[in-house]
Amino acid sequence: MDGLMQPRPLTIAHILERAERLYAHKHVTTAGGKRLTYAEVAEHVRRLATALDSLGVPRGARVGTFAANTRRHLELYLALPVTKRVLHSINIRLSAEHLEYIVNHAEDDVVCVDRGLLPRIWPSAERMPGVRYWVVLPDGTGTPVPDDPRILDYDELISGSEPFTGSFEDAFTLADENLAAGLCYTSGTTGSPKGVLYSHRSTVLHCLGTLAAGFIGLCESDVVMPIVPMFHANAWGLPYGAMMTGAALVLPGLSAEPAHLLGLMEAERVTVAGAVPTVWTSLAPHLRAHDLSATRFLLGGGSAVPTALSETYRAAIGVPITHSWGMTEVSPVGVIGGTRTQHRDATEEERVAVRSAQGQPLPLVNIRIVDVETGAELPRDGKAVGELQVAGPWVAGGYFRVDTPESFTEDGWLRTGDLATIDADGYLRLVDRMKDLIKSGGEWISSVELEAAISSHPDVVEVAVIARPDPRWMERPVAYVVLRDGSTATAGELRAHIEPMVAKWWLPDDFVFMAKLPKTGTGKLSKASLRDAQRIA
Ligand code: ADP
Repeated sequence: MDGLMQPRPLTIAHILERAERLYAHKHVTTAGGKRLTYAEVAEHVRRLATALDSLGVPRGARVGTFAANTRRHLELYLALPVTKRVLHSINIRLSAEHLEYIVNHAEDDVVCVDRGLLPRIWPSAERMPGVRYWVVLPDGTGTPVPDDPRILDYDELISGSEPFTGSFEDAFTLADENLAAGLCYTSGTTGSPKGVLYSHRSTVLHCLGTLAAGFIGLCESDVVMPIVPMFHANAWGLPYGAMMTGAALVLPGLSAEPAHLLGLMEAERVTVAGAVPTVWTSLAPHLRAHDLSATRFLLGGGSAVPTALSETYRAAIGVPITHSWGMTEVSPVGVIGGTRTQHRDATEEERVAVRSAQGQPLPLVNIRIVDVETGAELPRDGKAVGELQVAGPWVAGGYFRVDTPESFTEDGWLRTGDLATIDADGYLRLVDRMKDLIKSGGEWISSVELEAAISSHPDVVEVAVIARPDPRWMERPVAYVVLRDGSTATAGELRAHIEPMVAKWWLPDDFVFMAKLPKTGTGKLSKASLRDAQRIA
């Protein structure tokens, strides 16, 4: 017997129209301090809807965005899915080869580009013959715009179109909640990038899951600043989450300069911000120069947040970095850390250890670890290490237009390629990525644990540990380290520092000091680049 509740679809149109109705007066603030209300943003969305129709962009078509965290990008985040087109947010740091591959693979009908980013993509335009229009988003730069009939100006499109006055939400049926709403390609550290195709339903449920109190728990009084780019797994859902709850948004644009980001956080009294650990690392030395007293929650994910880094924040502003695990395939947030009531009586040291774990799965997300060889599920005892698998309504069940059965189990769970433990309380702790583990003399060494130990030295700013081929042991760990300016720490000192923390045979064979470490397109440390450099050397 079925229940008798209303069969209403879950759609991004609801997020837009809710913000319009309830939070029309709330602000989106951009890098230059300019404010628009949600009412004004919605008005632009309504004009954009008409403009997309007049350009003949079909329903279901993919529209690329090649843009920083800006108000116009937010308008596209809304206008595309609410009119049943697909928002394809493109990583602006991709190589030309990957860029061309994904725009062609997605068959983007239109691409919307920040004016200042034109030089990064326009040279590839001839190799993306399917793109009918290039819409330039004014961004305050005077970057020359090529004279080409395919190029249109975003602001002219908006001002030249009448607003759609009906309800976007009413145009969705229950079946439509499964329509594609967003497309993100994984960075593709190996092989070609793969597209993850989010639906309206998955996006709304992800939004609600992250919004649950005890997880990110946004509310109307929050001021949310996604530092994580809007092209990195849709800024972890923060823009939609803010609009759903009526929180104000601060969109910091392109610059990752500490003075810019921290200045905005201070000026706008930002309460919640999210970024990858490399960004938190770059801001850490400047925290005390700013008044961050409004900040209540900092989210860090995409790679492991070093405990020492989180503790630096706690010491400076009273707020640690809350750990989160996710991946593009998981919309991206699957797990969020922090302490719970059972840790109330724990010592400070124990609480620090709990916070260093990636955390517990969000409501509706299931995680398990399995034996890498046999696929058998392993105990949740905090000790057994296995491949992390994940299932849930916002977890990918396949990739866009490629068949990769090896990415999924027979019972439909996503194989993450991460190695982890899960404890009796359901806390996930990442041990390493399978491809980053170091196999020395037949035993595994976790690069993540070594990095955590090394980064607890006060002079270490960043560290990445990778394997070096070794004739005797097969592989041995080598640490690439960036020291704080003026530090004279030596390899011997770092070795002595971590000796009490790790097994003797885990000690890296070498500490290589670098001025900076290579980063991926999403700002994570790039071990692939370090491996390439090592191979060439
Ligand atoms: P890419 O694999 O190209 O970096 P994603 O951004 O989807 O693309 O990255 C997902 C991966 O990032 C996860 O599988 C995991 O290895 C790593 N990761 C994400 N969050 C964390 C975290 N909190 N701790 C450790 N690793 C993490």
